[in-house]
Amino acid sequence: MCYPCKTPNDPCWPSTLEWSSLNETVSGRLIKTKPPGSVCYPTESDYNLSACNNILENWTTSVFHSSNPSSVSDLVYSNSSCSPIYPNGTNVSGDPDAEVEGGSMGNLSPYVVNAMEASHVQAALEFAHRRNWRLNIKDTGHNPEKRIWTHFMKGCKFHESFKPQTCGGLEGHMAATVGAGIQDGELFQFLAQNDAIADVGVVGWATGGGHGLATAEYGMGADNIIEAVLVTPHGEAVTTNACQNKDLYWAIRGGGGGTFGVILSVTVRAYPMLSITRVDIDISARNGTSPKHWWILIAKIHKELLYLQDAGLGGSCTTFSGPPFYFHDTLLQYNTSNADSADESVKPLKGLLGYANESVESTITTSWSSSWYDLIKLLPATENVGTKRSIRASRLLPRRAIENTMGLAYILEEIGPQQVPLDNGISNPSISGTMTISKVQTDNALNPAWREAAVHFITSQQWNDTLPNSIAEGAIESMTYDKGYYLRQLAPDSGAYYNEA
Ligand SMILES: Cc1cc2nc3c(=O)[nH]c(=O)nc-3n(C[C@H](O)[C@H](O)[C@H](O)COP(=O)(O)OP(=O)(O)OC[C@H]3O[C@@H](n4cnc5c(N)ncnc54)[C@H](O)[C@@H]3O)c2cc1C
Repeated sequence: MCYPCKTPNDPCWPSTLEWSSLNETVSGRLIKTKPPGSVCYPTESDYNLSACNNILENWTTSVFHSSNPSSVSDLVYSNSSCSPIYPNGTNVSGDPDAEVEGGSMGNLSPYVVNAMEASHVQAALEFAHRRNWRLNIKDTGHNPEKRIWTHFMKGCKFHESFKPQTCGGLEGHMAATVGAGIQDGELFQFLAQNDAIADVGVVGWATGGGHGLATAEYGMGADNIIEAVLVTPHGEAVTTNACQNKDLYWAIRGGGGGTFGVILSVTVRAYPMLSITRVDIDISARNGTSPKHWWILIAKIHKELLYLQDAGLGGSCTTFSGPPFYFHDTLLQYNTSNADSADESVKPLKGLLGYANESVESTITTSWSSSWYDLIKLLPATENVGTKRSIRASRLLPRRAIENTMGLAYILEEIGPQQVPLDNGISNPSISGTMTISKVQTDNALNPAWREAAVHFITSQQWNDTLPNSIAEGAIESMTYDKGYYLRQLAPDSGAYYNEA
């Protein structure tokens, strides 16, 4: 075993011949990568100004990073390895010395197997296993090492009635079988053509838990996996479902996909197309409203949101920002024929906001659509990524934590946007939250804290590369031991979401 050979600089790093041999085994699908930004560095052999301009144009889109074999969308994982630079030598995240410092592979994988089938995955696993290497699986690259890339496993098949293999007695269910490289937008579009939906992101999303717009109606992503084909770390290709390899089937539904093998395809439940009522709540603080007053009101609103959850307004995504303090929430009700019942349900919330009219401006609007896919089409097709470093803390908060209005108000004031933001280059915290939660118990590896949760809150802060390390480290420390601590105190017996902890 060649234990210390982790980087190309180590003396027993595999020879060119060994890499060529791996390349042959994987049918020529081994990629020797360069960091995408290297084309911007005049000292690099692949320097190319027009390719650089193209990268600069696309760098902030998640699609660019998911379709590049080595790149990751969050600079915190790549340690800003070779981010592209502008002609003045400053990189995309604002480091003016980036050109002088030069580009390097840093944390990015020097080799990637662009896998299309089980044998490619098996060869990569065997090559890494012999060298005791850690291997990473990239689907979109929301997270990043030597790597198997599943991006081009794009198969997609619709089933009116799917029965897992060897599960003779089980009833069939509408379903879709998708390759590990399928992304949520692609699947939504494919299913809409069959007048169906699946509340599905991508493989990492569903195996880690997966909350989405229809979770309150149909359960978490993990609850909806009915079969998966995967290659185990020992290189065996297996089918897992309720009737075979049941332990693996249990584990990959919430315990994270990469923990147990490389998934080649998953079959997920699909459902007939839903109609949808949407409620948008916008609240902004008027001049002179004190932070204390604002956060008590926001905590009271969350108590009302619990009642709306009880009334079937299940999907809810919130954001808090400021100053000036601002709160937005989108609530969703499924399978309705108009917005009447939502209009009725939000009356108490309107009453509460009416009483608070002196301190906040607010609007509540409702709208109805016969097709859930109409809402999906409104979502941004790409996420804005790639220029900032960030840190976050999150917690799954049960109902009792939200009903403790004064406790919640106090903690939101500590972890949320501050009236006087820091002026040291660390952004004011922003909070995002979701109430798209399924209480239906399912026997799988999903963190049980999800079933009790009423809200999943994430507070986060950002900064750019120019910030001295000491200040960035201070922000990380404060997020972990102050803000994260406060959130945990609200629900010490709860937990955090594997994919967004
Ligand atoms: C902007 C943004 C928005 C998000 N919004 C949501 C949200 O609304 N709801 C939600 O639940 N989560 C959300 N997340 C978190 C998201 O679920 C995780 O980042 C998830 O891990 C992404 O999975 P991926 O398939 O894109 O995989 P990648 O980011 O490529 O990989 C993540 C991990 O998934 C595993 N993995 C990927 N492919 C495979 C495979 N073929 N076999 C086995 N394991 C595999 C690997 O262990 C890998 O380390 C969001 C993340 C971001 C960055």
